[in-house]
Amino acid sequence: MVFAYDSEMALQAAVELVNTAEEPDTLCSVADLEEFLERWGYTGRHDRTERELDEIRALRSRLRRLLSAERDEAVRQVNVILSEVTLRPELVRHDEYDWHLHAVGPDDPLPRRILVETVMAMIDVVRADETSRLSVCADRSCEGIVLDLSRNRSRRYCSTACGNRNAVAAYRARKAQ
Ligand SMILES: [Zn+2]
Ligand SMILES: [Zn+2]
Repeated sequence: MVFAYDSEMALQAAVELVNTAEEPDTLCSVADLEEFLERWGYTGRHDRTERELDEIRALRSRLRRLLSAERDEAVRQVNVILSEVTLRPELVRHDEYDWHLHAVGPDDPLPRRILVETVMAMIDVVRADETSRLSVCADRSCEGIVLDLSRNRSRRYCSTACGNRNAVAAYRARKAQ
């Protein structure tokens, strides 16, 4: 494990959320959001409104800037966000998750909670000097964010689809030689 379990979960969820903005956009309805939240075990307030959906859709570009920033720039963005929010840190244990930190209360709006969770995880990334774990997909036509938590840092593509497409292209290129 590179980071604490909750940080890794928050990073993975944030990367997936950001990558839903890649064409074709896969976060278009309250039902899409519902599915995302279920997959990542989100608890707490969830309004299920178009407004909440719009705010989360809009949040994606901000998260993208944060996740793809160089270390010093990530620090700058983290500090801006920390100055905007009121934190209410609390260690909690719920569902199948052992003790972990909730930095904001369960009644805070979902977009803010996702933003703060991502910031808390990025604090870990910065402190460990591991911003190189985050990159942009090596596929030339894809802007997806890649989170590499592998031991040998071998991950270059945001999805198996991108990985397979490039493996096929590389195979064809070799064959054509
Ligand atoms: Zn939790
Ligand atoms: Zn990709």
